[in-house]
Amino acid sequence: MRDIYADLGMPRLVNAAGTYTVFGGSRMPREVIEAMVSAASSFTRIQDFQARVHARIAELTRNEGAYVTCGCAAGLYLAAAAAVSLRFGKPFRWLKSEEVANSEVVVYRAHRNPYDWAVRQLGVRLVEVGYPNTIDPPTVDELEASITQRTVAIFYTMSGWTAPGALPLKAVIEVARRHRVPVVVDAAAQLPPVENLWSLTQAGADAAVFSGGKDLRGPQSTGLVLGRRQFVEAIAETGFPTYGIGRMLKVGREELAGLMAAVERYVKMDHAARLQWCERQVRLVIERVEAGGLGLQAIRTFPNEAGQPIPRALVRKPGALGWAAAVRDALLAGDPAIAVTLEGEDGVYINPMTLEEGEAELVVDRLLGVAARL
Ligand SMILES: *Cc1c(COP(=O)(O)O)cnc(C)c1O
Repeated sequence: MRDIYADLGMPRLVNAAGTYTVFGGSRMPREVIEAMVSAASSFTRIQDFQARVHARIAELTRNEGAYVTCGCAAGLYLAAAAAVSLRFGKPFRWLKSEEVANSEVVVYRAHRNPYDWAVRQLGVRLVEVGYPNTIDPPTVDELEASITQRTVAIFYTMSGWTAPGALPLKAVIEVARRHRVPVVVDAAAQLPPVENLWSLTQAGADAAVFSGGKDLRGPQSTGLVLGRRQFVEAIAETGFPTYGIGRMLKVGREELAGLMAAVERYVKMDHAARLQWCERQVRLVIERVEAGGLGLQAIRTFPNEAGQPIPRALVRKPGALGWAAAVRDALLAGDPAIAVTLEGEDGVYINPMTLEEGEAELVVDRLLGVAARL
């Protein structure tokens, strides 16, 4: 097979950072690639194919509806459009710009993040509630007071990196129900656990949006909206291949096929065995660092930065200012390049999530080699 990175003079990259888009997110397993090759090799009627893929994914994930988008961020954008269109009872492309501009989406200040451009750029107004800290803890009354007759949805971000200052999802859903306002959950990286594919919508969220190219290991350019039939139908009415805003968010038949294959694989995967494998990689890193005798500390940390229930190894040189960045840069400059993430000035994480057999050894040995020279 052609080595596209070698052709362009790029070193291979071993990803011990995690499902970061800037490193490629994840690797597609063989069955995903095969599904993409199969779909790419001939024509099909896209809307019929979409409908069948969506029905299959909905069934596999125990949801009323599913819709494949080109990334979680695109899914959030389409979900915001669907919320406005449901509020006014007509397709998004028939709405007047004042109707969109006067629509309000309630979000927790603690959940503000760079992905909320996906909602903001639609032209709706974000109404913030609460503080990104615990000085004045969030209350039900405060959330209720933020809802007006212009509110089209509450958007709720789930991640390990959000600030404190939001009510739990369950309480938000109760408030939203009382006011007949839909709840959309940004659950981009909330897999594992696999149960999140159904538990968030079963808990009453109208839609939960996931990245297809993170732990699902589907195509990088995919996202998945799961949820209530009516909500997902409103997305389909606005999304590709219709005209209007969805047209910018094209999803190829290869991506549709690839994400479906990825979901098929993910729901029947042995997640317990995978977790055990990750635990073994973390132990291996800790043992090699301890045997290395360089005055480094290594510990297991859990969960990871996205809040996923997967352990990582944290390797530190306690108190060594700038050590972490120097190690990261040296690892990234090597061949193969190695990607790790930082903990403050003196720690680097090795995340087994995106590693394959034999790679943890390579990463820790290179790290020890680099550390010996610093
Ligand atoms: C990764 C991520 C996104 C963006 O997902 P894409 O699939 O890359 O569009 C959005 N929200 C959160 C919380 C994320 O972690």
